[in-house]
Amino acid sequence: MKADLLIHSAAQLCVIPPHNGGPQRGTRLGDLGIVEDGAVACADGRVVAVGPTEQVRADWWAPVEIDASGKVVCPGFVDPHTHVVWAGGRAGEFVERIREGDLCGTKVADEVRAIVRTTRAAPLAQLVAETRSRLDRMLAHGTTTAEVKTGYGLSLVDEMKILEAIAILEVTHPITLVPTFLGAYVVPEEFLEDPDGYVDQVIEMLPLVACPGEAREGPCLTRTLRVPFCDVLCDEGGFTADQARRVLERARDLGMHLKVHADRFRPWGGTRLAVEMGAVSADHLASAPPEDIRRIGASDTVAVLLPATSFGLALHRYAPARAILEAGGVLALGTNCNATTSWCESMPLVIALACRYLQLTPEQALVAATLNGAYAIGMGGEVGSLQVGWAADIVILDLPDVQHLGYRFGANPVQQVIKRGRVVVG
Ligand SMILES: [Zn+2]
Repeated sequence: MKADLLIHSAAQLCVIPPHNGGPQRGTRLGDLGIVEDGAVACADGRVVAVGPTEQVRADWWAPVEIDASGKVVCPGFVDPHTHVVWAGGRAGEFVERIREGDLCGTKVADEVRAIVRTTRAAPLAQLVAETRSRLDRMLAHGTTTAEVKTGYGLSLVDEMKILEAIAILEVTHPITLVPTFLGAYVVPEEFLEDPDGYVDQVIEMLPLVACPGEAREGPCLTRTLRVPFCDVLCDEGGFTADQARRVLERARDLGMHLKVHADRFRPWGGTRLAVEMGAVSADHLASAPPEDIRRIGASDTVAVLLPATSFGLALHRYAPARAILEAGGVLALGTNCNATTSWCESMPLVIALACRYLQLTPEQALVAATLNGAYAIGMGGEVGSLQVGWAADIVILDLPDVQHLGYRFGANPVQQVIKRGRVVVG
């Protein structure tokens, strides 16, 4: 039979199978389903066959064939936590902090408000262009699906501008984008004296941002955009658990799925709140207390860990990944690409950090960066595994063995990226 693309002779083809039709839980994390001398055939943007080269080639041929001898082939990375839409940067502040010898003393909320100012001031075209260059680098590093949060707007008109940028990029960039509304990121300057007043305003924004096209008169770019997730930063510098609950309850009533920035710098009740409310994910968790780690371990809420954030701030505290796995939890990895704490576009670097500071094996980190990441953003069953019928989102790594992923760092191991069956990098 004829396929569109056939990748063959891979030293290791990592299928990354779902377990019981879902993510890989607890200490069972790390099942790569490796096929040696493996092949994968794609047609109409989907995987149509996967297995030993000899077997796949007996049934399929394709006008485009890629010889992956000596290489690792795996699903495209799924980055389940980014704030990639912003304008400007804080490089000057970063250098100043180095001079002061105090990187970890960064006032993160003030830094976010500074980026809110430059993002509000930027025309839409500039916002799209700056974001596009980041997405290009993410794609070059193997990310084929990414969650993307608003939150550098913090007013209805500015959050709408960010959603418009996402709508443009969604149809013009190869990466599949999954939007999240993060109006409750920090309290904006104009509400510093009245944080509860800002929470009221976020709650008023919710029905308008859930389906942003319907909020606009006349034709607009966000017409077809859907925003499936609502997130709240429940931590020091963000919102209290009570404020977060008010936002999340309204979002849930509107049919949105929930996410929480939880227990990032201090134990703040965010992990517990996320589990209680049935959130799809609780993210960060570096300061989550042991009893809340046990709670998330027993739940379906995905623990999304973001080691580039601790690294970015030169902090020595990382999330208790091993304890999450021992408690039976679902663990995923993301870049947290943002303008203040973690301008990181590379999932391979996140994997390298996870191997060192979260004590994950390369196999565990790879599943957390693909299959489990997909389940953290409602994309399970579609991306993150090379299953017949799933999206043909594939990366070819110039590595002889998966154990080199994480072992090596700093250089980009990604040689080619295939998105929906089409070569988009390399
Ligand atoms: Zn974040």
